[in-house]
Amino acid sequence: MLSTLRRIVQEVNSALDLEEALRLIVHLVRNAINTDVCSVYLLDFNRKRYTLMATEGLNPESVGKVSLGVSEGLVGQVGLREEPVNIQNAASHPKFIYLKETGEEKYNAFLGVPIIHQAKVLGVLVVQHVEDRQFDEGEESFLVTVSAQLAGVIAHAKASGEFAEFANREKGGNRIEGVKGSTGIAIGHAAVIFPPADLDAVPDRKPDSIAKEVRIFRVALEAVRQDIKNLQVRLEDSLRMEERDLFDVYLRVLDKNSLGGEIVKKIREGHWAQGALRIVVQHYVRNFELMEDPYLRERSADVKDLGMRILAKLQQVGPVRLDYPDDTILIGEDVTTSMVMEAPREKLAGIVSLRGSRNSHMTIVARALGIPTVVGAQELPIHQVEGNLLIVDGYRGIIFTHPSEELLKYYGEILEEEKQLVAGLEAYRDLPAVTKDGHNIALWVNTGLLADVARSLNQGAEGVGLYRTEIPFMVRDRFPSENEQEAIYREQLQAFAPRPVTMRTLDIGGDKALPYFPIVEENPFLGWRGIRITLDHPEIFLVQIRAMIKASVGLDNLRILMPMISSVLEVEEACYLIHRAYHELVEEGFKVKMPPVGVMIEIPAAVHLTKNIAERVDFISVGSNDLTQYLLAVDRNNARVAYLYHSLHPSVLHALKYIVDVCHQENKSVSICGEMAGEPASALLLMAMGFDSLSMSAASLLKVKAAIRQVDIKTVKEWLLEAMKMDNPEVVRSYLDLEMELAGLGGLVRPGK
Ligand code: PEP
Ligand code: MG
Repeated sequence: MLSTLRRIVQEVNSALDLEEALRLIVHLVRNAINTDVCSVYLLDFNRKRYTLMATEGLNPESVGKVSLGVSEGLVGQVGLREEPVNIQNAASHPKFIYLKETGEEKYNAFLGVPIIHQAKVLGVLVVQHVEDRQFDEGEESFLVTVSAQLAGVIAHAKASGEFAEFANREKGGNRIEGVKGSTGIAIGHAAVIFPPADLDAVPDRKPDSIAKEVRIFRVALEAVRQDIKNLQVRLEDSLRMEERDLFDVYLRVLDKNSLGGEIVKKIREGHWAQGALRIVVQHYVRNFELMEDPYLRERSADVKDLGMRILAKLQQVGPVRLDYPDDTILIGEDVTTSMVMEAPREKLAGIVSLRGSRNSHMTIVARALGIPTVVGAQELPIHQVEGNLLIVDGYRGIIFTHPSEELLKYYGEILEEEKQLVAGLEAYRDLPAVTKDGHNIALWVNTGLLADVARSLNQGAEGVGLYRTEIPFMVRDRFPSENEQEAIYREQLQAFAPRPVTMRTLDIGGDKALPYFPIVEENPFLGWRGIRITLDHPEIFLVQIRAMIKASVGLDNLRILMPMISSVLEVEEACYLIHRAYHELVEEGFKVKMPPVGVMIEIPAAVHLTKNIAERVDFISVGSNDLTQYLLAVDRNNARVAYLYHSLHPSVLHALKYIVDVCHQENKSVSICGEMAGEPASALLLMAMGFDSLSMSAASLLKVKAAIRQVDIKTVKEWLLEAMKMDNPEVVRSYLDLEMELAGLGGLVRPGK
């Protein structure tokens, strides 16, 4: 059964559209269960009706015509109860409705299972049998398994189908849900970015010149043919006859009458060369994979290989992405930090990533740059959006494709309001962050990119609460040397001097990868990360510490911060190395003060050790991004569980308050540098808890300052008292939103509200 299941999922997965996917499902499931009928009914959310979308066994004429209300018939029962309905004699069931057009009167046995994706019923999968017998337990659980596995494929195909339909109608606005990444609104044109050498990732794109694409393709094809011929000659003596014959097969497949010819035909239909290649190769691969003969099935790998070879040549001819529209909405399956950094900043209006989550690294960088971003937009049909006009609503985590005039006008007004808000915030630049009743708090910035320095100083930052050193490490092809690091760090320290700059030691691992230091792990967030790596590699750690300390000569505004600490042993080992590096430098003649050393509390184990850790260091900084992830056991990078990631969760709030209280008992200063510090309502709550400083991206600084300057600490402490009594993060969120609204600060949360 397992191999049948795998095969069904694989075949359905490679269907070109929803219609084909559903046709394959009913055909394959009917054969697998050996039953008379298999049908799929899909739910139309707007009409609140199930429509028969595919069947094998019922009257094919009724497909697309027969429909049922959400509570009608046995299909409606399956959807309402969200569980299988398995009956020996369907007609005897009180909810049975006879659908004349389908010709189902002769079928007695009925088994229907819901198709559920992300807790939403998408439709119902039904099998029926003439025989008056109940489907057995094995058949029922098989159908449940098939349905659960196919739900995601159906959801995706359905969204793409709706998208294509929308593209034809060209009116209204098609809404696609994602996760809030970086606040703000962007209206612009989609520029799809994809990793090179991945045929499946190549998007559809309309070429400027068909003749040019045909030419590019022919050059690439000829180059691959030549490579194969060369290989054939080179391996002549070392291969057996039949193995050598394979090269002739390859050359024939590439012939203009075969694959080569079909790709040219596709280009002439209006596709660019890489897109035409993807479509034709995927089609061939699918056909080979469906063959019963294992030898022929194996040939799918050959076609894939040839496809990759041609793609490699094509991508040499024309790079992955050179042209960015002036109002680029950068879109990718998994947009990485380097993809964002490679795009010209002045053209980058918004970002949409199908994967990732609010606290993935790319998103943090996007926030630092102030680019409206939506992540986890899994239903966006990435192959079909190139060049389309889109709206990205980073406040709500929504994207609109094919926006109507009305929608464009609405969002245009919000954009205008945003501009005015930003202009209005300018007035706060040189004012202190002090409440109306005189409570003062330091507002620091998180940095890492070079551009952060100017932006932070421009916003009146009082210091750097977190300099993510891994970012300059990421844009190189090897570890930077001690001198190179010293120069990079000096630039930061000098730009902010005499203000303090908190430099975090290398925090790689998790979702922060260095291209030249790959770490492959099953569970990277619980693996070799942060201080664990640098303590295992003292040579890397010591070079970094030496570079930091040397860079601070004459400035003395450096603070060193250690990430991912889970025990006092790690603190002691790291402190020992830091002191060793310092004393060596002093011995070498450097005149420099020993920098304060701090620890990030971002692991639950460290929360309970706050006192023991605080005793050993000079300051504490809370990494609420990771602390939330680890306290709630929610991967900060996983869009599927993003709805569970709440920094305002009561467990997080209580942990934060505890850390602040213990640090103050130990007379140690405590700051917070996670993303929640940059969200105005959360920032007020953190101030009420007693944090000495808040560190955030420069883009958030003036908003947070504006909020602080318009409240009394006394009032915000009352909010905190109320919030700490609540046991539900959603309630905390709406309570805070309401208080912000009542205090006249709603516009800071989201303009246009
Ligand atoms: C955090 O975890 O809150 C933090 C500031 O560090 P990073 O997001 O870089 O892991
Ligand atoms: Mg962290």
